[in-house]
Amino acid sequence: MIRYTSTNEKSPAITFKQAIIQGQAPDKGLYMPDKLPQISAETLLSMKDMSYAEIAFTIVNQFLKDEIPENELKKIVNEVYNYPVPLERVTDSIFIMRLDQGPTASFKDFAARMMARLMQYYLKQQNKNLLILTATSGDTGGAVANAFYGMDNIKVIVLFPEKEISLRQRKQMTTLGKNITAIAIKGKFDDCQALVKKAFADKELEYLNLSSANSINFGRLLPQTVYYFYAYSKLAKEEVIFSVPSGNFGNLMGGILAKYMGLPVRKFIAAVNENNEFPLFLETSFYKPIKPSIVCPSTAMNVGHPSNLARLIYLYKGQMDEKGNISRMPDMNKLIKDIFSISISNSETMQTIKQVYEKYKIILEPHGAVGFAALQHYLTKTKDNHLAISLETAHPAKFPDDIKELLNIDPELPKSMQNLENKEEQYLTLPAEYDAFKNFLKNTN
Ligand SMILES: *Cc1c(COP(=O)(O)O)cnc(C)c1O
Repeated sequence: MIRYTSTNEKSPAITFKQAIIQGQAPDKGLYMPDKLPQISAETLLSMKDMSYAEIAFTIVNQFLKDEIPENELKKIVNEVYNYPVPLERVTDSIFIMRLDQGPTASFKDFAARMMARLMQYYLKQQNKNLLILTATSGDTGGAVANAFYGMDNIKVIVLFPEKEISLRQRKQMTTLGKNITAIAIKGKFDDCQALVKKAFADKELEYLNLSSANSINFGRLLPQTVYYFYAYSKLAKEEVIFSVPSGNFGNLMGGILAKYMGLPVRKFIAAVNENNEFPLFLETSFYKPIKPSIVCPSTAMNVGHPSNLARLIYLYKGQMDEKGNISRMPDMNKLIKDIFSISISNSETMQTIKQVYEKYKIILEPHGAVGFAALQHYLTKTKDNHLAISLETAHPAKFPDDIKELLNIDPELPKSMQNLENKEEQYLTLPAEYDAFKNFLKNTN
């Protein structure tokens, strides 16, 4: 049976069920599996003819076979993965994988929906209730709210910075109702995150059974290994390159886990925006978080200290605490062999959207453009001619102003977002003060 241990190495090993309900380890580390199941070459080959849901079952079942019955897991993956995952050909050796067709048009749907169903399964077993608190800078809130919408045992409260998110992003959280509550905080994203953290640490609120749904939860990481297997099995026969637009490095971490489960990946490209702490670390072996993080058009990647870095470093035999202090250096040579990382400027991001449209008639948005630009740098520098797959993590229609300005077109809204415009919003506004937030929480149940 796979056990989950903390990257800070000061918490007891636990089961998947405990890890998904707890989120973070008591010693503030992140949970990692103590061994990785191996996917054989035959299984990989057999995935060529499987649906996305079947591949998801095959991979996730390797982790959960002692913890959840196969028929339950099959039911979950079939409910969750009911939308397409297009692989668009750009050139003979470059593809774009569109992870933007889920209900909130962000790749976060892949993980949030699966995690929500798994949590619900375990909570029903125990007849337990949970209150999920999430701070969002845009995409997480919508994906999490949508994923947990209508569940009996789980309530969700999403905090967003009043003036820092787009109207469409806000509407994805404020038009649901039922078990979803949205709160506008008169402050910045950092204020929202600070309020949530304080509530988690508040002993007086323990009775509320608070949990988080961010990418520190291993339950959100596991589903993100699946699309790497999917893309490989549909497109490739030998080693591939994946370019991953990265912020908190949860997406990239999913890919790295897939590699160490046996997926033939030649290189990962950790594509970042102007928040360049990670490529600098690979270059200098010296890590310094960027505070406050730099504002870029790829808003979901404005991260000055990626939370999943502790996991990455741990997998490469090092140790980093939650603040970013490294107490044991990872195997830098191996890291550099597996990962190429580069920072893409805001102007290059925008130029890339323009060029890719002019040359290939393919519409990217700022996150996917960072990934594509980084891939081009890598290919030019190394002359590597292996098959390359660049991930597109959001739908261009989520960024109508950028796309309109650059391409003079109004990208069509995905179906899931088309009737958002007319729906009525409901949310309350609170100051960025802990007492006000705490009072609100005490009065929710
Ligand atoms: C969250 C997000 C990212 C960054 O993913 P990480 O797992 O945090 O690295 C990239 N693009 C979009 C659109 C996102 O919402």
